[in-house]
Amino acid sequence: MPVTLFIKKFLFLIPLIALVLCEKTRFDNYVLYKVLVENDQHYRILVDLKNNNFKYDIWNDHISLGRYVDIMSSPEDKAELEKLFQKYELKYEIANENIQEVIDKENAIIKTYTRSNIRSMEWNAYYTLDHIYGWLDDVAAAYPNVASIVIAGKSYEGRDIKGLKISHGPGRRVIFIESGIHAREWISMTSACYVINELLISNNTQAHAAAQDYDWYIFPVTNPDGYVYSHEQNRLWRKSRRPIGNNFGVDLNRNWNSNWLVVGASTNPQSLTYAGPGPFSEPETRALSNFIRSIGDKIDLYLSVHSFGQYLLVPFGNSTGAYANYYDAVNIGRRAMGALAVRYGTLYQTGNIAEVLYLATGGSDEWVKEHVRVPLVYCVELRDRGLNGFLLPEDEILPNNQEYMDGVLELIYQAERFGYMNSGSRIHISMFILLITFFISFL
Ligand SMILES: [Zn+2]
Repeated sequence: MPVTLFIKKFLFLIPLIALVLCEKTRFDNYVLYKVLVENDQHYRILVDLKNNNFKYDIWNDHISLGRYVDIMSSPEDKAELEKLFQKYELKYEIANENIQEVIDKENAIIKTYTRSNIRSMEWNAYYTLDHIYGWLDDVAAAYPNVASIVIAGKSYEGRDIKGLKISHGPGRRVIFIESGIHAREWISMTSACYVINELLISNNTQAHAAAQDYDWYIFPVTNPDGYVYSHEQNRLWRKSRRPIGNNFGVDLNRNWNSNWLVVGASTNPQSLTYAGPGPFSEPETRALSNFIRSIGDKIDLYLSVHSFGQYLLVPFGNSTGAYANYYDAVNIGRRAMGALAVRYGTLYQTGNIAEVLYLATGGSDEWVKEHVRVPLVYCVELRDRGLNGFLLPEDEILPNNQEYMDGVLELIYQAERFGYMNSGSRIHISMFILLITFFISFL
């Protein structure tokens, strides 16, 4: 048989092969357990499970005594897991018996953004990378004197790491928001877009004042390859997408060059917290850190935004000396989380060493604090506390974003009160007063 005829004969197989290769990962009958951490032994067992057993997906980044841990198991592996719970007397409940059902439901709220209509973005929905980036471009075009697109660099698969800069003029201090470094934490991407909306498009006067007072750099999706993959292939994908042997991806929030691989990260590429072959081994963390460093001396407040757990975490909780403003940072954070709770009663825990026991190093927050020496650095874990986890439903998206914005504005207010931030406009006013006093003294 001639080669061309042979190829033609099997041409029909190509779409079938493509279908098989592109089929989304399904989570039919995957079970989500909520397990209570009652004592030190429970804590050690769960941390060991997270770091060394790749059969199960432990959704929490922070394991604390007295709190629940969410563990997802395939139907095949759940009997073994329940046996472990029984052996160590771990109390558990089943939060969900079929994760795929929740994912199917969520598909209905993945919306399409209509280009050139920035107000049409909906705040009880999720959007793909293309739609988020299209919206950012349109916001920059709609506010050409104030907003501009900034590109920190490219991802492994060649996508832009795109952010928006908001600036009402030179001389202002910087607030930096980095979201979406973990692909499956979709609420963190929408929260960043919501902040942009409040600063520029909404009629939130307090937010508009904050936009006037500071330069804002907001990156909604700092792991674009992972985010695309979480939409197209595997909703619960966390890492980047660089191939490492037979595995894919690095936990980009364990890859920063600050206490790299010291605790809470893995050397095994199979692990969800694989820290990469070396610090800053990944193009995404290299690009972002270089960009942050380039404006580092101007940054007063840095937020690394994740989900879930409802935490506001301050790096270096166990350290004094060089990080002597730790107690101020916690104080400012607690007050801000008080303001966050006003709207819907949502409680956040502001982290210190006594409360948040599971440490993880190599994150962006630690690097920004240690190497860029930004005075106020927080890692935010948005809603919820584990009932829906990464699959935050439609009716919680907008409330989450509203209360988060309340918290951000209060963070700024409290930081100013504690003397940590000096807004641009207020610097101008104080300079003006200084000049007047100077001239009066000569009269
Ligand atoms: Zn995260």
